[in-house]
Amino acid sequence: MTRPTILVTDDEPLVADAIARDLRERFNADYRVVRTTSGPEALDVLARLALRDQPVALVVTDQRMPHMTGVEMLVRARTHAPDAKMLLLTAYADTDAAITAINEIGLDYYLLKPWDPPEERLHPVVQDLLDDWRRSHPDHTPTVRVVGHRWSDRSHEIKTFLARNHVPYQWVDVELEEGRRLAGVAETAPRDLPLVLVPDKDVLRAPTTLEVAEALGLRTQAEQPLYDVCIVGAGPAGLAAAVYSASEGLRTVVVEREAPGGQAGQSAAIENYLGFPRGLSGSDLAQRAIAQVGRFGAEMVLAREVVGLETRGPVRAVLLSGEAEIEARSVVVASGVSYRRLPAPGVDELAGRGVYYGASASDAAQLAGEQVYLVGAANSAGQAALNFARHAGRVVMLVRAGSLEASMSRYLIERIEACENLEVRYGTQVVGASGQEHLECLTLRTGDREPETVPASWLFVFIGAAPRTTWLGDEVVRNEHDFVITGPELLRHPAARWPLDRPPHALESSVPGVFVAGDVRQDSMKRVASAVGEGAMAVHLVHRYLAAT
Ligand SMILES: Cc1cc2nc3c(=O)[nH]c(=O)nc-3n(C[C@H](O)[C@H](O)[C@H](O)COP(=O)(O)OP(=O)(O)OC[C@H]3O[C@@H](n4cnc5c(N)ncnc54)[C@H](O)[C@@H]3O)c2cc1C
Repeated sequence: MTRPTILVTDDEPLVADAIARDLRERFNADYRVVRTTSGPEALDVLARLALRDQPVALVVTDQRMPHMTGVEMLVRARTHAPDAKMLLLTAYADTDAAITAINEIGLDYYLLKPWDPPEERLHPVVQDLLDDWRRSHPDHTPTVRVVGHRWSDRSHEIKTFLARNHVPYQWVDVELEEGRRLAGVAETAPRDLPLVLVPDKDVLRAPTTLEVAEALGLRTQAEQPLYDVCIVGAGPAGLAAAVYSASEGLRTVVVEREAPGGQAGQSAAIENYLGFPRGLSGSDLAQRAIAQVGRFGAEMVLAREVVGLETRGPVRAVLLSGEAEIEARSVVVASGVSYRRLPAPGVDELAGRGVYYGASASDAAQLAGEQVYLVGAANSAGQAALNFARHAGRVVMLVRAGSLEASMSRYLIERIEACENLEVRYGTQVVGASGQEHLECLTLRTGDREPETVPASWLFVFIGAAPRTTWLGDEVVRNEHDFVITGPELLRHPAARWPLDRPPHALESSVPGVFVAGDVRQDSMKRVASAVGEGAMAVHLVHRYLAAT
């Protein structure tokens, strides 16, 4: 827990030293005493503390200082530390200024210099002020704050990154009072937004997720020169591969561009995973798996996208965004699939500003009382719609087909039918979206009817997914939809020139030593359980491959 600050200012260094010393003598155990020698320096320190979310309990200042009087400084300090108690040190001749300050700026107390002996004249006054401050400030734990515009796509991306990586944060809308205050203290230009304020770190201005991850102390670089296995993607397949690989003694690293958990991490309730009869949330499953991965000693490199793969003799090199790379003796590709884009005019331009692909369970809580549109008809859409309906005023599911029977599990359809604030509009497609700063209207077409434009602020899209595998290059053979072909299928594929005498192992790609697990693999089942099973199986095959090389 950070000790709250007592800030002291006096333009005479010896006097500043003396008051700081006298305050430390009595309050050092519970408060950090910071000494400054001018108004501007004091305001600088207060700004830094405000942006690092470190509480200021008391500001003590001399009145007569060049550049800025004590009262002038306190007036400005109110923006930086609105709740701090304020104590003015004055000479007898300045008593009037002090009394005026009590009336006009809410000065808490003034004290005539000198304050000797401190035990009688200084400590009791300060103790009273601090006790008062404590009563209205129970223990404070500094937290990450994101300051930005509600409808900014960058703000949304950073909030999603934090939520999915289980980093608690506070959202501060820059158009509201506290947001304006923090933006002012940080001297923010419009291009600096969003600000990310990490306790004890410098202000991050419009940062990338990699910069946020680094400020949070998340691991963003691999530690070792060579691994036995490098796993690309930390969804269920990658996490399972990491657990089996590290627990079986292989030097293991996992690279994840967003957050561990993958698509499953976005699921509000996985009900069909063996061993959890009442279901569990994807985020819970991911957290358990991350703990397991850490326990067995696999490294997890976060906020890094894998952008290339190279074969260097017996070594496979995985190239990362930002010019880094990792070398390993084998690779497990577990990069899953990503949501398909909705091909209607205007939709892409509003992505992140009212239009969202997929959703994490925590998104639902921000929709209290709102009207939400959702496109999709598979289980993932059904789960999300039910989760939204727990918070939103009304949820409208837009389904292109005439029913949900062919695409969704029966148990979900029954819950959707029973849900009072959830309406399903069959035979309906989004044919347009519009809005200035953010989504304002959707154009919908139902059957052959004339398109209808409805006001809308929120559209969530769940319309199937496709792998993004171009980073694998031409050597790793894929089918026409970009899923990676593995095992015996390769021998039948015209583009695969399998180079070894032995046949490929079941989950091996056309490049020996590069294995594939989970949704990204051709013919995979697209389920959590099968992804986990394939992750484990890939490690078994890695052992066989490494033993023979
Ligand atoms: C909302 C939702 C609900 C679902 N509910 C269920 C359910 O109830 N039951 C069930 O069995 N299945 C469910 N599924 C399906 C299940 O989640 C997936 O089948 C499973 O997550 C696939 O696991 P995976 O590890 O293969 O891939 P993913 O989960 O897609 O994980 C891949 C990971 O790789 C990362 N990645 C991708 N490319 C790169 C790169 N180039 N560099 C670094 N990292 C990269 C991604 O960020 C991602 O974290 C649901 C899916 C969704 C979206």
